[in-house]
Amino acid sequence: MSFRNFPMVPRVVFGRGSFNQLGEILEPKRQGNKAPFIFLVDDVFRGKVDLISRIPLKHNDKIIYVSAEEEPKTIYVDDIRDDIKKEFKETPSGIIGIGGGTLLDYAKAVALMLTNPGSSADYQGWDLVKHQGVYHVGIPTISGTGAEVSRTTVLTGPERKLGMNSDYTPFDQVVLDPSLLNGIPKNQWFYTGMDCYIHCIESLTGTYLNAFSQSYGEKSLDLCREVYLEKESIDEDSQDKLMMASWHGGMSIAYSQVGVAHAMSYGLSYLLGTKHGVGNCIVFDQLGEFYPEGVKEFKQMVTKHGIDIPKGLCKDLTDDQFDTMIDVALSLVPLWENALGKDWQKTITRKKLRSMYELM
Ligand code: NAD
Ligand code: ZN
Repeated sequence: MSFRNFPMVPRVVFGRGSFNQLGEILEPKRQGNKAPFIFLVDDVFRGKVDLISRIPLKHNDKIIYVSAEEEPKTIYVDDIRDDIKKEFKETPSGIIGIGGGTLLDYAKAVALMLTNPGSSADYQGWDLVKHQGVYHVGIPTISGTGAEVSRTTVLTGPERKLGMNSDYTPFDQVVLDPSLLNGIPKNQWFYTGMDCYIHCIESLTGTYLNAFSQSYGEKSLDLCREVYLEKESIDEDSQDKLMMASWHGGMSIAYSQVGVAHAMSYGLSYLLGTKHGVGNCIVFDQLGEFYPEGVKEFKQMVTKHGIDIPKGLCKDLTDDQFDTMIDVALSLVPLWENALGKDWQKTITRKKLRSMYELM
């Protein structure tokens, strides 16, 4: 097949308060009283009665709190899967992820690993997943990554940071309730939102661009500009728009790719554990050479919102550590090819990457 035939999220509900409909949405998918729904919930909501009390638990359904402090790792995915298998005789009716990109990715990965043998590390790559996962639902509580629509779940494994990209990965159902975005710390709102902005710039300036990606990317970029440049405060309209910007940004990269910022930020995150949103900002801040317009506008947004972009992360690294980051970044061939074309290796040498990392 010369054209990629992508699955999409088949069902989505949007609106303030739509989270309250979750019970109704899940019930028809229940496989019996002994096959629970498992809710993977960001630890940050522990004790937040307003959200937790609205999770529609029945029978032996269970909430598992998961920390988003570190990015998802294959070993944690395997542990969660093993714990669920140990506790419940029947395969769960579904896995529901409630949180940011971290929790959404855990939910996708655990749903797949309940029906695929071995370790999630065996499936990092493209189209390695053999069997459909259990029914899985994504409910974002912070917007920007596009993980709610994407065909991947990004995991750090023993050897690489790479997604389980497959037709079975996308959610079966997404619930977009912008009121869940209340209470996000400002820096984090900025970093995760900039993930979306950067997806758009990388997609729209990439060599893989086509009308499908462009149409979603341009809409997403307009929404990001409204939220981060035109608005004076984070009001309801801004939450609604950021949620849709993230959705469109994810759709845009479905049929194209990300670029230089993501390739380098994966290196940072693999070596130093730098989280995706802030990592992208640290890298993008230094990419004026590759994305002059985008970086200029990004800096305006940083100034407008008084955001801290950490600096000096790489100042004390050893040669071996630089080499590890460079290896990870260089392994992401499609990203470089999208950013710079087939001859990307003429511009992107190890020396060039080292000099760029040294600025971060
Ligand atoms: P996150 O999920 O790590 O959340 C960031 C922080 O915000 C956490 O501390 C979390 O507890 C907190 N938080 C979330 N919702 C909140 C709320 N409503 N109120 C208060 N605090 C809240 O961050 P993220 O930027 O959404 O996701 C990053 C992850 O997403 C990375 O692991 C990255 O690899 C992944 N990612 C995946 C895809 C994909 O397509 N699958 C795409 C991009 C990024
Ligand atoms: Zn991203």
